[in-house]
Amino acid sequence: MIATNQKNNNQQTIASSIFAKGIGLHTGSQVELNLQPASVDNGIKFIRVDKKNNNVIEALWSNVSETLLSTTISNSYGLKISTIEHLMSALSGLHIDNLNIYINAHEVPIMDGSSRPFVEMIEKVGIKKQNKKRKILNIKKSIEVYENNSSVKIVPNNQFSIDFEIDFPSQLVSKQSCQLQLINGNYKTDIAAARTFGFEKDVEHLRSNGLALGGSLDNAVVVGENEILNKDGLRYTDEFVRHKILDSIGDLYLAGAPILGYFYGNKSGHYLNNQLLRKLFSNQNNYEYIS
Ligand SMILES: [Zn+2]
Repeated sequence: MIATNQKNNNQQTIASSIFAKGIGLHTGSQVELNLQPASVDNGIKFIRVDKKNNNVIEALWSNVSETLLSTTISNSYGLKISTIEHLMSALSGLHIDNLNIYINAHEVPIMDGSSRPFVEMIEKVGIKKQNKKRKILNIKKSIEVYENNSSVKIVPNNQFSIDFEIDFPSQLVSKQSCQLQLINGNYKTDIAAARTFGFEKDVEHLRSNGLALGGSLDNAVVVGENEILNKDGLRYTDEFVRHKILDSIGDLYLAGAPILGYFYGNKSGHYLNNQLLRKLFSNQNNYEYIS
């Protein structure tokens, strides 16, 4: 179980701006990012600088438009930004509430496949406490959604905690479950370094569909028939399930506020994470905001 204590905190942003660049996992093209501090109650916003008008996309569950392989959000003008989940995860893990993310393409760079590069660049400039309390989303009723053999649920709890189970038909991944305590900044050590992963047998199919064009052993764990193809192996023995937790933390941060509740994911992904938030917000009796 991963748990983080989020009560009695002020809102935060970054202390100064950050420039970064990298390649998009699916498009394979070069992307430049500029993270700028933002004022209280701004939330997390993406701004497409390659477009002149209507180029702001708020990082909210209601803007999620695609969930195939990554999470994509779109604004009402149809402008999109994809693969936001690792950056969102870093922002959740570091308790960044307010940020403007200027970007010159429609995909967030994949970096090394984890959220660690984002965590490190934010820690390098520092985090700034702001003079207003954080708004916390307190879960009041249990919500669950299913699809085939996968499910996610969120239940009332006095801290944000995550359990996750995966079960892949590969002897190298197979069944893994992760139950960690994540308090006092352990996101950085226990989750942030876990990389995205894929199976060697799927690579050709993905590429022929125009996906994973930027994918390589530099930004993903690639699982072969009998071995991990990355020469340095894994960063955690259970890196796969930890990456699924990293993804879920990022997807859940699209709630627009930190969550007070217990999340359980079973063989789930971006689609069910978004369906869970949609179901949660469909009835005002399911939640309340506290500070
Ligand atoms: Zn991921």
